Amino acid sequence: MSLDHQEFLRYSRQMMVEEIGEEGQQLLKEARLMVVGLGGLGCPASLYLAAAGVGQLILADGDDIELSNLQRQVLYREQDVGQNKASTARRRLRRLNPHIEIEALGEHVDRRDLAGYLPECDLVLDCTDRMSARQEINRAAVATSTPLISASAIGWEGQLLELLSPGDETACLACIYGADESEPAQNCSTAGVIGPVLGMLGSWQALRAILFLTQDAEQEQGRMQRFDGRNGLSQGFDVERNPNCPVCSHED
Ligand SMILES: [Zn+2]
Repeated sequence: MSLDHQEFLRYSRQMMVEEIGEEGQQLLKEARLMVVGLGGLGCPASLYLAAAGVGQLILADGDDIELSNLQRQVLYREQDVGQNKASTARRRLRRLNPHIEIEALGEHVDRRDLAGYLPECDLVLDCTDRMSARQEINRAAVATSTPLISASAIGWEGQLLELLSPGDETACLACIYGADESEPAQNCSTAGVIGPVLGMLGSWQALRAILFLTQDAEQEQGRMQRFDGRNGLSQGFDVERNPNCPVCSHED
């Protein structure tokens, strides 16, 4: 379906950007994207994606909102404490943009759920904070050849992984970290995190998603970006496939 008058007005500022235009906006409208985890990363990522007019969003999070989430999970308000994150996020985002379709999955999604959803998606954003969930998303992305943008943050630092052809042209998450599902000694619950660092990384995921959905992205290389909020600097690296990767080396 082509863009109507309201949509032309709504998206006019981003359609003015040369590389987007009407064609890019139409591509966003036709895109289907899954966001797993509606916490400190998923809130800003899904806000920008909904605002930008990504036509179909699937939001997955089985957790309920807690008071200690409000410091960084910017979609939620104090009265939302105790409510499910995915359905609350859906409600908020619908009020932001009624032109898009949003599906909320209010339970923990396992590998089987992901295997059902990902083949229908152009891209999956890993916005989770648990290693076991990250590994499940990665396995499903490799198995279904779904482009994956993963992010994480702790303290003042964040990291973005852009794996647009995981386990095929580019590395998968397990090429870099192995397939161990045990939690690292330090995570957000034990070491804390600065809210705007998650805001940076979640926005970064949305930015890369918009770029990927509207441009001919380079898929040959996996990329990692590290951001240090103390000095405001980021560094990028190419990441290589591991020929002995426990997840993707069997897929060839
Ligand atoms: Zn791999």
